[in-house]
Amino acid sequence: TGPTIVAGEILVEIMASERGQGFLEPLALTGPYPSGAPAIFIDQVAKLGGGAGIIACVGRDDFGAINLERLRRDGVDVSAVSVSDRYPTGSAFVRYRPDGGRDFVYNIAESAAGRISLTEEARRLADGAGHLHVMGSALSIAGLKEIVAYAAKAVRARGGSTSFDPNVRKELIDGADGAHFSALVDDADLLLPSGDELLAAAGVADERQAVAALIARGVGEIVLKRGAAGSTRFGADGSRTDCAGFVVEEVDPTGAGDCFGATYLTCRRNGIEPGKALLYANAAGALNVTRLGPMEGLAGFDALDRFIAGTDRAK
Ligand code: ADP
Repeated sequence: TGPTIVAGEILVEIMASERGQGFLEPLALTGPYPSGAPAIFIDQVAKLGGGAGIIACVGRDDFGAINLERLRRDGVDVSAVSVSDRYPTGSAFVRYRPDGGRDFVYNIAESAAGRISLTEEARRLADGAGHLHVMGSALSIAGLKEIVAYAAKAVRARGGSTSFDPNVRKELIDGADGAHFSALVDDADLLLPSGDELLAAAGVADERQAVAALIARGVGEIVLKRGAAGSTRFGADGSRTDCAGFVVEEVDPTGAGDCFGATYLTCRRNGIEPGKALLYANAAGALNVTRLGPMEGLAGFDALDRFIAGTDRAK
């Protein structure tokens, strides 16, 4: 029992309203939209009615305010979000290329997100939490490492669980942070890799071997995200469940993985069996990519049920 919590970056995203290459010409833009992988994840937990809280830092500005307002409105506990007077809320400018790729301009390195620290409020939220979800960014921000270490211990002490999305740059896995990365993988009750991250997390080149190696290291279950193709769940008992993706028109892929992970986790925490949880997660990911803005396509159970009933699946 106790809410699901995350820690990490909150920012806004501003998108070019038309596809094209780069930002070298003046463009029509749309946004700002609330964003940041941890924010997307935790907002979806709340949309599904799960207890939810976030540890973060935003600037005392409108970009921070729209995030706090959205999270609050959807039911996320934002009492552990600190507000910096010195550093602004970060932003990311995104343009989608005709081939589906993306160009980014980030203003995050010197933003409030990097000022995150283990405050009294953060400790209090972690002390009452039932589940901690950890993301790749936990490896690159000093204050965040401390928060994750504290929260993981607190959650474990209460008999809670953890999940890990290993979306981490390759240099970090190979470099000095490799041991820290491995520890986060080993500790995960639920691992949520996408694409090659499964092989990178295991350090082997074959999917079946990677799954076997990770389960042997103590990972509880693995759910592999496969984009438009859907997803696969591997259980600790050797079971494998495939779930075909829903057929949708992809407008904006940002946030799909976080929305998917939040949905799978929240279903499982609610006692929904793995196959059904996977279906809901696929639906949530697919629905999210049909809307412009990383958090604009997040959906509760009623909307997901309607989407599932009315949408074809890939063969
Ligand atoms: P990540 O964002 O972590 O790379 P994915 O791109 O694999 O993750 O997206 C997560 C999930 O969202 C997928 O497993 C799938 O269920 C769903 N999804 C993502 N893109 C699409 C798409 N174009 N069509 C249908 N479903 C999608």
